[in-house]
Amino acid sequence: MKVFEKIKDLQHLLNESRSKNVAIGFVPTMGALHKGHISLIKAARQSCDLVVCSIFVNPTQFNDVGDLSKYPRTIEKDKRMLIEEETDILFLPSVEEIYPKDIDTTNPYDFGKMAEIMEGAHRPGHFDGMAQVVARLLRIVEPHKIFMGQKDFQQQAIVRKMMELMKIDTELIRCPIIREPDGLAMSSRNVHLSPENRKLATIISQTLFEAKENAKTMTLKKVKALALEKLNHPDCSVDYFEIVDAYTITPISDFEDTSSAVICTTVQIGGIRLLDNIILFE
Ligand code: AMP
Repeated sequence: MKVFEKIKDLQHLLNESRSKNVAIGFVPTMGALHKGHISLIKAARQSCDLVVCSIFVNPTQFNDVGDLSKYPRTIEKDKRMLIEEETDILFLPSVEEIYPKDIDTTNPYDFGKMAEIMEGAHRPGHFDGMAQVVARLLRIVEPHKIFMGQKDFQQQAIVRKMMELMKIDTELIRCPIIREPDGLAMSSRNVHLSPENRKLATIISQTLFEAKENAKTMTLKKVKALALEKLNHPDCSVDYFEIVDAYTITPISDFEDTSSAVICTTVQIGGIRLLDNIILFE
């Protein structure tokens, strides 16, 4: 695996590959890799000739400075995992490399309501920062395909929208959520859960699985009410629990109103924000 810290070195190799019609697959991450990230690398490996992974803990998408400083960093382990999956290139830029002083890298796109609810409402500025870095990385790597996790459902919907606005023809491949054996969605933040909270955290996926079953026979209102009742636990704090259209990320009030519905939720347990979602139908 080749490791590049500088854009120009990375682009030199990518341009050479592109001239030989090599299909480039790109997996952007913030590191602290787990099986969820690795599933994206595997998907890229299967359908592309050259697999590029980036690890960059993007400061502009953290609205909470404490959250940024305690974000787990496990670079040596990450490199070993990537080598094991036969990743071709790791792009490991510095903050100055991504955000140089002499160019405007701010996000020019307005995503409207889809970025204002759920994560957008609870983490002001988060999606601007995320869009800023993904746009920059897309322009640097110019991949044929970008691989993103369903785990961050709202994020990948916004990236899809942004790529339309950017008029680039990179294909976005959404990969399924990888879960722990007990159902908890894998996340770099799970390491911060105490053993008791780790056990309790299964309540989130259980609630979503039950809601999906309930949605086969009940009204949306009833599905939501039962789910919120289940999550009404003294050690859980629900940031949001929304049933939205999977493409427009607009809340729906009746399953009849859409052809694609997904439940998105974030629950805080012991102060750790845990995101999860489930596609009901699409
Ligand atoms: P992050 O490093 O958290 O920014 O995530 C990088 C990519 O990995 C994003 O596209 C995430 O959606 C994806 N990802 C994170 N956790 C999982 C998971 N449990 N299953 C599948 N993809 C995931």
